[in-house]
Amino acid sequence: MTEKKYVVAIDQGTTSTRCMVFDSKGLPVCSDQMEHAQIYPKPGWVEHDAMEIWSRTQDVIRGALKKGKINPEEIASIGVTNQRETTVVWEKATGKPIYNAIVWQCMRTQEFCEEWKNIPGWGQDITGCGKVKDHTGLLISPYFSGTKIKWILDHVPGSREKAAKGELLFGNIDTWVIWNITGGPNGGVHVTDVSNASRTLLMNIETLKWDEEMAKFLDVPLAMLPQIKPSSFVYGSTKKDGPFGAEIPVAGDLGDQQAALFGQACFGKGDAKNTYGTGCFMLMNIGETPTPSKNGLLTTAGYSLAEGKCTYALEGSIAITGAAVQWLRDNLRLFDDAPDSEYFARKVDDCGGIYFVPAFSGLYAPYWDMSARGAIVGLTRYIRKEHIIRATLESICYQTRDVLEAMNKDSGVELSVLKVDGGAVKNNLLMQMQADILGVTVDRPVVNETTALGAAYAAGLAVGFWKSTDELKHHWASDRQFDALMEAGKRECQYKGWKKAVEKAKGWTE
Ligand code: ADP
Repeated sequence: MTEKKYVVAIDQGTTSTRCMVFDSKGLPVCSDQMEHAQIYPKPGWVEHDAMEIWSRTQDVIRGALKKGKINPEEIASIGVTNQRETTVVWEKATGKPIYNAIVWQCMRTQEFCEEWKNIPGWGQDITGCGKVKDHTGLLISPYFSGTKIKWILDHVPGSREKAAKGELLFGNIDTWVIWNITGGPNGGVHVTDVSNASRTLLMNIETLKWDEEMAKFLDVPLAMLPQIKPSSFVYGSTKKDGPFGAEIPVAGDLGDQQAALFGQACFGKGDAKNTYGTGCFMLMNIGETPTPSKNGLLTTAGYSLAEGKCTYALEGSIAITGAAVQWLRDNLRLFDDAPDSEYFARKVDDCGGIYFVPAFSGLYAPYWDMSARGAIVGLTRYIRKEHIIRATLESICYQTRDVLEAMNKDSGVELSVLKVDGGAVKNNLLMQMQADILGVTVDRPVVNETTALGAAYAAGLAVGFWKSTDELKHHWASDRQFDALMEAGKRECQYKGWKKAVEKAKGWTE
């Protein structure tokens, strides 16, 4: 038998699909990536063509194997990670979607959600009362899959009846990719993992099973839902006539943010990571109890390594972080490339007394004020472009502190080190400011591709390619640590200023 040398991750994201091959030390060997179309049928609506995604997935698999001259016989297993919440419904017999994939960002069910919030017993505030939070750990929001499935079944004639008979299948993108890669209409396995299922509004956060009351309320037939499995588990095998050209176990499945938590080796209670992209997503491992948040965070399944077991996470999502840097670049034209923000921000010692609250589309965690809008406060004639750029980077750090404070309160754990990843962590000034504003050490890993790595880890563990999470912990290597250098009094004084600025931005469109 050929020696197994690699684990493959398929990372199906919002804008592109990537295939990455990792070696036994968890280091990237080769990869391939392709974008797919973003479809905007109406303002606020976002769709993807699920067939295009499947086609790109096959292309990048072939591309990565070719680039790295990988013999498929040397691949131990395959893991999948995905854009979360995006919803596909397809015909079991043909593999044809009955509607475009409705993307997580799509707001088409906003009105339904507003009505839902007003139904006695279901509605809730950010302090966490309400049935939805009790059953699922989530909030009522168009973001999650449940109302998107309902929308498809409400709008495609005859679909609900077919779904009830098991002729239609629902999946998030993980399920769609795994079903296709294991044979599609010819025996494809219909599964998901707890981390993805926990974003549907349909999984009970305590039992890790589909919640009949939620499914009944949303009028979603249970027959169309995939089986919920651990994140690290042999779900099935690829086919010889598929893009891998061999039978390889498909053995890992994690939603992208949970995959990053796993890839960052946050295996202990209180370990946390923050991903800096368009927005920021902070997740903290809270162990085996799904403690509900009292401070505006979500409780979500982190990962599961065995049937019936789950490690939970608290999650704080921030809508606009790297996107504010893009806004300076594209709308104000203050520089040409996002990394130039560091060069300009370094030209001044501080923000000159201003704060920028980039609440372009409201404030998410921990405020959940959708009526907030962006504000720059404290302006004087002294202020130059460099101050505004620096204040934009600071706003990323302050928003992260807001979420971290909520996490510390909810978990009762005081974080001492924050692991970071994502596109913007290459900005050293941003990372130093982050450490100063939090008063904790910020640790940036050598391998920044933590999402794909997390999926690979889950897949490798399931087949014994790696023996334990302890072994994986040893792979994690720090590229650079940023220690908090700011004096505590100054830190608190500046944070007070930020809180005041947030108050100015709140409630703007009310
Ligand atoms: P996503 O996965 O959300 O598309 P990435 O992880 O690729 O995002 O990160 C890109 C984001 O990070 C962009 O919003 C960009 O403006 C920002 N960004 C990238 N590099 C830097 C940098 N050096 N300094 C500040 N922001 C940056």
